[in-house]
Amino acid sequence: MFTPTRAAGLEFLADFLPRAGRDYARDRNHDHGPSRTNVSGLSPYLRHRLVAEREVVAVVLQQHPLGSCEKFVQEVFWRTYWKGWLEQRPEVWRRYRRDLAELELLGDYPSADYEAAIAGRTGIDAMDAWVHELIDTGYLHNHTRMWFASMWIFTLDLPWQLGADFFYRHLLDGDAASNTLSWRWVAGLQTAGKTYLATASNIARYTDGRFSPVGLATSDRALVEDPLPSPQGIAPVESAAVGGRVGLLLHEEDLDAVSLLDEHPGLDAQRLVAVAGYADPDARSPLGASHAVRRFTTSALEDGVARASAHFGQPGRVLQDAFSSTVLEWAASEGLDAVAVPYAPVGPVEERMLALQAALASEGVALTSVRRRWDTLAWPHAARGFFPFREQIPGLLRQQGL
Ligand SMILES: Cc1cc2nc3c(=O)[nH]c(=O)nc-3n(C[C@H](O)[C@H](O)[C@H](O)COP(=O)(O)OP(=O)(O)OC[C@H]3O[C@@H](n4cnc5c(N)ncnc54)[C@H](O)[C@@H]3O)c2cc1C
Repeated sequence: MFTPTRAAGLEFLADFLPRAGRDYARDRNHDHGPSRTNVSGLSPYLRHRLVAEREVVAVVLQQHPLGSCEKFVQEVFWRTYWKGWLEQRPEVWRRYRRDLAELELLGDYPSADYEAAIAGRTGIDAMDAWVHELIDTGYLHNHTRMWFASMWIFTLDLPWQLGADFFYRHLLDGDAASNTLSWRWVAGLQTAGKTYLATASNIARYTDGRFSPVGLATSDRALVEDPLPSPQGIAPVESAAVGGRVGLLLHEEDLDAVSLLDEHPGLDAQRLVAVAGYADPDARSPLGASHAVRRFTTSALEDGVARASAHFGQPGRVLQDAFSSTVLEWAASEGLDAVAVPYAPVGPVEERMLALQAALASEGVALTSVRRRWDTLAWPHAARGFFPFREQIPGLLRQQGL
């Protein structure tokens, strides 16, 4: 269903464009099954920035007045909101990773209930069908993700972290912020005490009667956790303040170097002497990523490197094997003084970039992160709930010239 190229992402966008207005606002909560056309299906492309949020919103606003496409624009901003929220509370991500490691050590992974859930053998028709859809397509509708997470936590009584991990391993759009925080939201952790309980009637209504599961939990007690540290604010980045010979290293968080560097004229084509890319989808989970995620991410990276290489007229390479040492070899072979990377928000790529920074520094090579204006402008507003954030959207659009 999802071809891992920017060209395919743009085709999805063009195809969906006429429906991004009132049709989307009215129909988006229905899940008609894999042939659905009421939602955009853009998330695998947005998540890897094969297409970026700004251009999606710009194209939609050219076609529809904000009054009719407001809902769609807000949904795109949910993605931005979650990223900005996690960026200010990295402890949430660290706890999630720690909890997963502990569950694995305690041997909870191979529990019979867990095995049945991820094999689509719970006996709950909807749940089992969605497991197969997720594994086969790498995608689930938003409402379905909510029902699934709710049934996992409240009906099957399984740890939310294992459900989040299962999603993250299989979703082509798997994203540290959107996935972890949405699972927390369903569990009653994200908005403390406020849970999401799936009901059979709601599922029947919004799946057009395809499913009417029996045996669902009828009560939901919110999970609790130790208090979180206060939000830490968004760190400034010294974007592209580098000299000498610069190499551009792409990764799976942002694969449209052309629009990224367009915003950063300080990194001009004269100093950019080489392009490379490295992705590690298996870092998503202690259990690695699904074959489909690996294939999508690897091909998307190749596409991103090929486009950047053609645009900047510089050799492009996809790096493999041990990360830091391969990048060091590349930097040495190209005689680089600095490596520029797209900014990596909280998640596995950020962890990888921190390790790389230290390795490059020991060889006298600087690492500089290039952050999109979209993120820099919006993230500071994501310290609290989505509703105050939503109030900022018109202003953010104006600041983006939209
Ligand atoms: C438990 C759970 C886990 C999720 N995990 C992820 C994930 O790992 N990665 C991910 O990208 N989204 C995740 N989402 C959010 C959402 O389900 C998907 O972004 C959406 O279903 C993607 O389909 P679409 O592109 O057709 O969306 P559309 O409805 O067409 O929306 C357009 C775009 O807006 C953004 N968007 C829409 N809804 C949301 C939302 N609720 N939260 C964040 N962004 C949104 C996406 O980038 C999406 O591509 C999760 C939601 C839940 C409830």
